[in-house]
Amino acid sequence: MSTKDINLSAELKKYFGFSKFKGQQEQIIQELLGGKDVFVLMPTGGGKSLCYQLPALISEGTAIVVSPLIALMKNQVDAVNGLSSDEGVAHVLNSSLNKSQTKQVMDDITAGKTKLLYVAPESLIKEEYLEFLRDVKISFVAIDEAHCISEWGHDFRPEYRNLKGIIDKIADVPVIALTATATPKVQDDIQKTLGMNNALVFKESFNRANLYYEIRPKVNVDKEIVKFINQHKGKSGIVYCLSRRKVEEFAQLLQVNGINALPYHAGLDQKTRVANQDKFLMEEVDVIVATIAFGMGIDKPDVRFVIHYDIPKSLESYYQETGRAGRDGGEGYCLAFYDPKDIEKLEKFLAQKPVSEREIGLQLLNEVVGYAETSMSRRQYLLYYFGEKFDPVKGEGAMMCDNSQNPPKLKDAAKDLKKVLEMIKSLGEKFRTKDLITIIAGKETAVTKSYKLEQTEFFGFGKEETDNYWKSIIRQATVQDFLRKDIETYGVLKISEKGNDVISGKYKEPFLIAEDREYDLTQIK
Ligand code: ADP
Repeated sequence: MSTKDINLSAELKKYFGFSKFKGQQEQIIQELLGGKDVFVLMPTGGGKSLCYQLPALISEGTAIVVSPLIALMKNQVDAVNGLSSDEGVAHVLNSSLNKSQTKQVMDDITAGKTKLLYVAPESLIKEEYLEFLRDVKISFVAIDEAHCISEWGHDFRPEYRNLKGIIDKIADVPVIALTATATPKVQDDIQKTLGMNNALVFKESFNRANLYYEIRPKVNVDKEIVKFINQHKGKSGIVYCLSRRKVEEFAQLLQVNGINALPYHAGLDQKTRVANQDKFLMEEVDVIVATIAFGMGIDKPDVRFVIHYDIPKSLESYYQETGRAGRDGGEGYCLAFYDPKDIEKLEKFLAQKPVSEREIGLQLLNEVVGYAETSMSRRQYLLYYFGEKFDPVKGEGAMMCDNSQNPPKLKDAAKDLKKVLEMIKSLGEKFRTKDLITIIAGKETAVTKSYKLEQTEFFGFGKEETDNYWKSIIRQATVQDFLRKDIETYGVLKISEKGNDVISGKYKEPFLIAEDREYDLTQIK
């Protein structure tokens, strides 16, 4: 069917009842129907599902939708089946089906009834399914939650790694990959792994202008949270903790303080979990205290605050979790408590993991530290992380964070910036932050010895200042585009054009950083 013959707006109205496409949905659908591979990066709530559901409904054959969670698949299948007047246009094919159910699904596909087939990647590998799918008409393949392919994503699934080979075995059809995680690293990884380097990329802004971001030092955290919730009495909110034990304890503490709260974590039995979640959705309970197990696929539009009792392990998780606030466009307060000691604990935990996982985990944590300690607009920092430029003065939501409301005292560190950039250039742009810091501090390591760095003029030039000071200079220099972290070499720092302008003296602006980078824990309100 030629795409020109289809009135997409009419189909949108017919199936979904919507009168307009959201964002770039229409272009995305047109390209997919035209036979192109497409890659969609859209924040949660952006309307990704429709980008493959609508084309699947109006195409000949069955679209395969790869999705990581059986629970999510069921919700989606029910939703799609409610859209069409034809019965059962969407099915799942996975380990939850018995023999006769599986046969029924296969019969429906063969008969051309099934428009969308939801599968988990581990089911796709099965030889019997592969053989079957090879012989039926497939319209296209959609890969939902495509960040699961990347170890740099927040939810890596090894089964996603082999998808490209499996899809190639099934059919030569267009592929649409979708994700709400859009760091340049993850994006690059997804495209390479799926062989989608020529795909059309549609990226929407990740700016959530109605969310207010605040980081507080983690002192008197129980009291602070109780106070905060009491100031927002009767409103819906989520408190995230890293451990199940903390979830239980803190939910109890809130209850003791007269707050209508319940716990949620994967260690609770299924019945309690579902009951607690439903009570939150039905507004019988105001606050859910939860581990990260809570939230995937939950669409409660009027969550007014998300509190992180513990700082998350990555900015992706932070963004996803805070993103559950204010989905209706109304107020959304995102408050996180930060203690550098928590980071140390997480680092120790990572030390037990295999090397590659550890390296990645540490770098993700590093970004969290950068964000927590930054003096710049939190929104600018977060969006930069997702590969987006943001104007901290005029951008939408510019004033919506603690640093913009109460800017910390700043000092001009332009001289130190210049020195660091000169050093990086002079040493051939081949080191990562960790090694640069040891050079600046004049500490001998295997790296400094093997490159004979002790003999350079830079060795130990900054030992009067703390390592943290220099780390923050490098971090801010990266965020402000004087330095660039190389993806291929996992973080080797390169000088940008702007950085070269600093070295040559062409760039003369001040380089402002917070005067005291260490958290002064006595300054609590
Ligand atoms: P995502 O998968 O990106 O998180 P969803 O596909 O769940 O987002 O869509 C988020 C919400 O937006 C859903 O409630 C969906 O019905 C709605 N939506 C999607 N497209 C449109 C549209 N064109 N017009 C109005 N609402 C839409």
